[in-house]
Amino acid sequence: MTTPQPWPTLIQTIPSSTCMISSLFPSSKTIFFRSTFIIQNFLKPTQYRCYSPKMSATSVTLEQPSSERRAELVESLAEIRERVKSASTSGKEPTLVAVSKYKPASDILACYEDGQLDFGENYVQELEEKAKLLPADIRWHFIGTLQSNKAKILASIPNLFSIQTLGSIKAATALNKALPAERTSPLRVLIQINTSGEDSKSGIPPLSSSSSTSEVKNSDLIQLADCILKECPKLRLEGLMTIGALELSLEASETEKNADFERLKETRDVLARYLKETYPPDDGGRWGEEGTGRLLLSMGMSSDFEAALKSGSDIVRVGTGIFGQRAKKTTST
Ligand SMILES: *Cc1c(COP(=O)(O)O)cnc(C)c1O
Repeated sequence: MTTPQPWPTLIQTIPSSTCMISSLFPSSKTIFFRSTFIIQNFLKPTQYRCYSPKMSATSVTLEQPSSERRAELVESLAEIRERVKSASTSGKEPTLVAVSKYKPASDILACYEDGQLDFGENYVQELEEKAKLLPADIRWHFIGTLQSNKAKILASIPNLFSIQTLGSIKAATALNKALPAERTSPLRVLIQINTSGEDSKSGIPPLSSSSSTSEVKNSDLIQLADCILKECPKLRLEGLMTIGALELSLEASETEKNADFERLKETRDVLARYLKETYPPDDGGRWGEEGTGRLLLSMGMSSDFEAALKSGSDIVRVGTGIFGQRAKKTTST
């Protein structure tokens, strides 16, 4: 197979510092994704690559979804949306975050073109690469293990919408420091609570409504919340997140409530009471959902999002239910 000749004039219009194009085909069209120039080839194979100096050549590709895959995703997305809607208890529609870890950018594009804007990713490098390729109005939610040494990369993603896995003062201050001045709105953060107490789960311990005032004041959660409100003006404490124990979500029946979800709700209520007293909502409103001031709950995944919604969840994170099974993790980023 012969390689098509590149277009020298077109190449010259592209600053080599931002992007070098490997191969161009005669019917190429220039697309602007923020400041990055990407040449998209509309001939077969429908694939193009953009090499930025910092990235590896193989990692950044955006393929168009095949029509079969697109149809499959549109169908599963419609089903999940319907199930979210019918399980929702509050008047307000919950946020469905499509968890796209390990899934190709083309899958995300198919969902985006079907109106899905909220996507969740677990790995910083994977998120960074996808965010560069995909439309700038996607709302990215980071839901992976948050290491403070990765805060800078995360903070540099302009359309990072929230971080749902905040778990330490160190990570909060690193994020606050790393967020660029040109970011116009504070970054929403949710504190991850380890409601099941499992060693394998991240997050800080929950609070109980029976805890004494001093226990509450000295808890990890309140200290982190205080740090966000006093020392991190670029963060907005939007709510709490939990993963929960799988057994509890499988055991919970129609009548029995899931203990993880109940614990997260109770923790939220204790935290909300403390915040209302300490940082009144009319004091600039630095916490809770914008507009309502409510502390949101992010709980519920493919296997238990309906139960979570019945317990009052505001944000559900669904991966497998939309995209199908994931390949086993091979590298850690
Ligand atoms: C992977 C992941 C999900 C999605 O899980 P599914 O069971 O595939 O829906 C949700 N939340 C977090 C934190 C995850 O890591």
